[in-house]
Amino acid sequence: MGFFAPLRMTTRIQHINDLSLAGKRVFIRVDFNVPLTADGKVADDTRIKACLPTIQHALKAKAIVILASHLGRPKGEKDPKYSLSPVAERLMELLKLEQVIFPEDCVGDGIRKLSLEMKPGQVMLLENLRFHKEEELNDEKFAKKLASLCDVYINDAFGAAHRAHASTVGMVQFVKEKGAGFLMQKEIEFLTKVIAKPERPFVAVLGGAKVSDKIAVIENLLNTVDRLAVGGAMANTFLAALGFKMGHSKVESEKNYVAKKAFERAKTKGIPIFLPLDHVIVQKIDEEAPVQVTSDANVPEGWMAVDIGPKTVALFSKELQNAKTVFWNGPMGVYEIEKFSKGTLGVAHAIAGLKRATTIIGGGDSASAVVQAGLENKMTHISTGGGASLEFIEGKKLPGLKALEL
Ligand code: ADP
Ligand code: MG
Repeated sequence: MGFFAPLRMTTRIQHINDLSLAGKRVFIRVDFNVPLTADGKVADDTRIKACLPTIQHALKAKAIVILASHLGRPKGEKDPKYSLSPVAERLMELLKLEQVIFPEDCVGDGIRKLSLEMKPGQVMLLENLRFHKEEELNDEKFAKKLASLCDVYINDAFGAAHRAHASTVGMVQFVKEKGAGFLMQKEIEFLTKVIAKPERPFVAVLGGAKVSDKIAVIENLLNTVDRLAVGGAMANTFLAALGFKMGHSKVESEKNYVAKKAFERAKTKGIPIFLPLDHVIVQKIDEEAPVQVTSDANVPEGWMAVDIGPKTVALFSKELQNAKTVFWNGPMGVYEIEKFSKGTLGVAHAIAGLKRATTIIGGGDSASAVVQAGLENKMTHISTGGGASLEFIEGKKLPGLKALEL
């Protein structure tokens, strides 16, 4: 049982393994919020696959499995564009089942009746929870209706754990037995490792777009990292605060003060923050735009930094070299455009190449950059929850986890 120790130590949350499921209706809140193709197929089934261990465990334990998820932002009403129907199909293939029951809704007398008629080993996927505005409003009546579908509640939707919705918080109090699934456990285990007891040296790499969104992450990481490398648009704000010329780069100048303070705090703590030594610059963000590399951290007037330059990739790679724990959030540039993705890919390869380190990727765009680079199997853990992983690292208590506490 040692495997589950971190969950038990940090919280009083039961794990699915602790609960008896045989013959019971087990409601599993999953995060099947997957991207769809233009013709309505599942474009990336990573999130479905990530929940399979929990679903398969419940099936093996002879439970009646009822799955619920949101998909996209359907504005609280039925919208076929956001139907989970393609997910039900993919799930059936992945589970190698003859049938996944897929009703037209997620609550109602008919569905409750279905849940009572289902046999152990059967799976039902409810229709998109967000077809009801009551889901996001955490409406009590709606929560009770969801709760009436089950005997046991399992939350395996780490990606939705930072939201207090009916399916993540409201319904939990109306179900007798509750616990966390395997994916939830894994997420908590790795992210706890980062904030609680990282093996050292611990190096964090931060990038992406918004200092304002991530300043609390930086603050909390400064309590635990040995060094910090900052790239992407986030670095622009730091460089501007230090007096470098950033041209037309994306800079949150109103965050000058916040960036300066973070710097000072790092200095008093003796934690080095590494910033870009050079940039890939363009005059406009465009596939065709002519590209230059700066000779230092300044950006000329009329130009903007869209990626870290080669000297910076080398610096960050060197600082990562002997790391035993790495946390990476946020791409190093506008990685969506191939020409500006070299810095992000360089850092991804540097992290993937570390042989003896625990490497953890948090953040939606960083995770997708790693997948694009085909390096997902070289990382210890890629969090399935962008926002949730960041709030966890900030040290916030996630409502979905709090609801699971005994
Ligand atoms: P994550 O999802 O991993 O937490 P963010 O959402 O914070 O990351 O940031 C990702 C976005 O940041 C991407 O859309 C990327 O294009 C943008 N970005 C990164 N560097 C720059 C830059 N130098 N200038 C403009 N945008 C940038
Ligand atoms: Mg993002």
